[in-house]
Amino acid sequence: MEEACGVFGIYTQGGDIQAASAAYYGLFALQHRGQESAGIAAADGKVIRQYRNLGLVPEVFDDEILRGLTGHIAIGHVRYSTFGGKDVINAQPVVARCKMGMLALAHNGNLVNADALRAAMEDQGAIFQTTVDTEVILNLIARESSKGLLEAIRSMMQVVRGSYALVLLTKDSLIGIRDPYGIRPLCLGRVGDSFVLASESCALDAVGAEFVRDIRPGEIVTIDQSGVHSVHVPAPLGSRLCLFEFVYFARPDSVIDGVNVYQSRVEAGRRLAIGDDVQADMVIGVPDSALAAAMGYAQQSGIPYGDGLAKNRYVGRTFIQPNQGMREVGVRTKLNAMTRNVRGKRIVLVDDSIVRGTTSRRIVEMLRTAGAREVHVRVSSPMVLNACYFGIDIATSQELIGHGHSVEDICRFIGADSLKYLSLEDLCKTVEGAGCGLCTGCFDGRYPIDPETGEMLEG
Ligand code: AMP
Repeated sequence: MEEACGVFGIYTQGGDIQAASAAYYGLFALQHRGQESAGIAAADGKVIRQYRNLGLVPEVFDDEILRGLTGHIAIGHVRYSTFGGKDVINAQPVVARCKMGMLALAHNGNLVNADALRAAMEDQGAIFQTTVDTEVILNLIARESSKGLLEAIRSMMQVVRGSYALVLLTKDSLIGIRDPYGIRPLCLGRVGDSFVLASESCALDAVGAEFVRDIRPGEIVTIDQSGVHSVHVPAPLGSRLCLFEFVYFARPDSVIDGVNVYQSRVEAGRRLAIGDDVQADMVIGVPDSALAAAMGYAQQSGIPYGDGLAKNRYVGRTFIQPNQGMREVGVRTKLNAMTRNVRGKRIVLVDDSIVRGTTSRRIVEMLRTAGAREVHVRVSSPMVLNACYFGIDIATSQELIGHGHSVEDICRFIGADSLKYLSLEDLCKTVEGAGCGLCTGCFDGRYPIDPETGEMLEG
């Protein structure tokens, strides 16, 4: 299975910020991007120290561990739950020793040719300790050591295919790398004389850093004692930021490639309501990711917005559950209907996406049990028809309810009175003005890279 993750890096200078502690808070702000494992590596100009383990950020780290991660530079990683490979050895950052000294690498994304590259290197005698793509990337960089770090990174970028937002730590520098299509986000921030790299701007806010800019597709940005330096590898003309970041994955208080995630979700809800003539008493959203869209729907339709579902804040994302049975229990543990609010009412239930259909089905059932008279499901994204090969864990095509089923079938399956999706055209309009193009592969099968061959298809 694929994995989506969060990455963070900080180069501190002359201040009172402890790099590893800042990484801790940065990762905490990115916890929504991965709940399986967390790790931090720190460098003090001489050596790299690291700690990683399975669990949530505050479970993995305590004061003592953080104090032990001395040094003025740090990177961190949170890993998304997957179905296999749940092993501490696969936690990141991955650290290696090579001719250039120690390197630590944290990766958000997924390579489509990692297996082929790994096999080729193994044929030549390379030994791998983990099953993650990140180690393949690190090996590719290490084997070109003689060219110097920047050239070694460029060489790596010429052969890997897929999505990658990387933070790389050397003993005395911090490097951020974004793949040539810019599929996964990465941004740069600044606090005093210190520089920060993060998957999302909400992590900059968490450490008091101000947003400087997004890292551009194909950009390698090096931060060291002499400041911030940037070089670019040749990138396709059209970038392809993952549209699902806006739909579901990113935090609403983040701004990605110039688009405010919250605003894009409100706009998606507003567009969903245009031309919808459903008669209803209340609009509710599935907390948390669909609340903004529900608000937009209510504003546009004039149907009052209300609370219909309570969320247990201490439960991670539903997909943490490893099998379908547990996933269904997971939905119930996470959400409960607010009986008094929904009883006797005709409800418009807004959700951000339907992937397997489990969540919507359970919620519709819950609302009916609580006495809702009608439940009309409105989805603020199009049907998810295809698997993602670039870092969002949205199941295999066979598991997707949108795959091979009509809207009517799905409506029946989830037990709703009616069902409507937002069109892809409308969804793309919600991120208008973005400083990048979009990957819409899960909705329309138009991937920027052929998942089988690794061939770059667009731009
Ligand atoms: P389901 O249709 O049961 O598979 O789940 C869809 C619900 O899970 C939606 O309410 C989304 O908010 C959420 N969701 C969508 N994509 C993901 C993902 N990649 N990982 C975890 N949850 C997701």
